[in-house]
Amino acid sequence: TATSSGAARRPTSALPDRPEERVKVFVRIRPTKAEGETGGAVRAKADSKGLVIFREHANIPASEFEFDKVLGPSASQSDVYHAAVKPIVEDVLNGYNGTLMAYGQTGAGKTYSLSSIAADAIGMIPRAAAEVFSHIEQDGGHEYSVYMSYVQLYMELIQDLLRPESENLQIRENEGGVFVGGVHQQEVQNITQCLHLLSLGDRNRTIAFTALNAHSSRSHAVVMLTVIKRRSVSGTGDAEIQRVKVGKLFLVDLAGSERLKKSKSTGLRANEAKSINLSLTTLGMCINARADPNAAHVPFRDSKLTRLLQVCKVAALVRDSLGGNAKTSLLVAACDAAEHVDETLQSLQFGLRAMCVRTQAVVNERVDYKTLHAEMIAALENQDRKSSL
Ligand code: ADP
Ligand code: MG
Repeated sequence: TATSSGAARRPTSALPDRPEERVKVFVRIRPTKAEGETGGAVRAKADSKGLVIFREHANIPASEFEFDKVLGPSASQSDVYHAAVKPIVEDVLNGYNGTLMAYGQTGAGKTYSLSSIAADAIGMIPRAAAEVFSHIEQDGGHEYSVYMSYVQLYMELIQDLLRPESENLQIRENEGGVFVGGVHQQEVQNITQCLHLLSLGDRNRTIAFTALNAHSSRSHAVVMLTVIKRRSVSGTGDAEIQRVKVGKLFLVDLAGSERLKKSKSTGLRANEAKSINLSLTTLGMCINARADPNAAHVPFRDSKLTRLLQVCKVAALVRDSLGGNAKTSLLVAACDAAEHVDETLQSLQFGLRAMCVRTQAVVNERVDYKTLHAEMIAALENQDRKSSL
């Protein structure tokens, strides 16, 4: 039976009162596979927030954890979407940045949750894109443009999955923030175009790894959707002044978080392991630092992943004072197999710490002065013409 020996690990006092002002953490437990796994080590509690983890084999009492929501093995993709993603998409449509990161060991269900396009199990990325376009169709009061990018980070190189020949993109920074220099941003008009690009990117991701005899779970992948929403506030035609909101949605499929055995692997595999361990360890350190109000140093420059996640404005990596960060949700993918209980525990602890990170998202809104500018030039030209007469 479960005891509450893990209760002390629960973040309580460190949490802001309003859950919308911190990173939200969702745990999804994938169903046990038929072969090679003994299920039952992780169980969602009936309140759908609590979770119990059993480690009887190691003679350790069961521990309980609490998250924003625990989605058990019978949860559908739609259940996950409504709990963890729909609220973020709604914010993005209103000019906020929003990020969903999937964390967990290889095989725990990150890519299935995010990218599946099976008709009976459509994942978070296609669902989010579909919601963006259905919202656009229904909103007659605004003009929209949507752009999509898709990159992966593997062995410290950022590759553009929509332009795979661009395989060493650089992280750059200007007064507007951190961005991926030269990344292809493809305008998409509808969900069909969006799905086409997703499958193109997925295919390029697989091709790159097959050539290296490696597995795509060794890379971090990020889909970025930029939604630009315009509304006229005064004037007509060329003199139109528009209020513009820019919302960005980032969907991040992190590399597998399992500790890769260093001793046996050599060459490429050893370098992969080093790169993934460095990136996820640095991410964990940044989250720890940001979760602690007294910590001064957040080592986001120590890995390329944490720099890339700054582009995604992940709350732990971008200070709210620098123009706001993203409404950030973490989806911890876990399996309930006794064989993986130590990895699962590590993932859950990562999730618990992330829950202590504050977010302070702001709307990205501006008045578009370009059109105002055009009006001014027209007026000046008019004056010139008058004076030359
Ligand atoms: P990861 O990306 O975390 O390495 P995957 O998403 O590739 O893991 O999942 C591993 C396997 O488990 C895949 O075959 C996937 O289809 C299956 N799977 C994962 N989650 C679920 C789920 N919730 N329901 C059914 N099958 C799942
Ligand atoms: Mg995967």
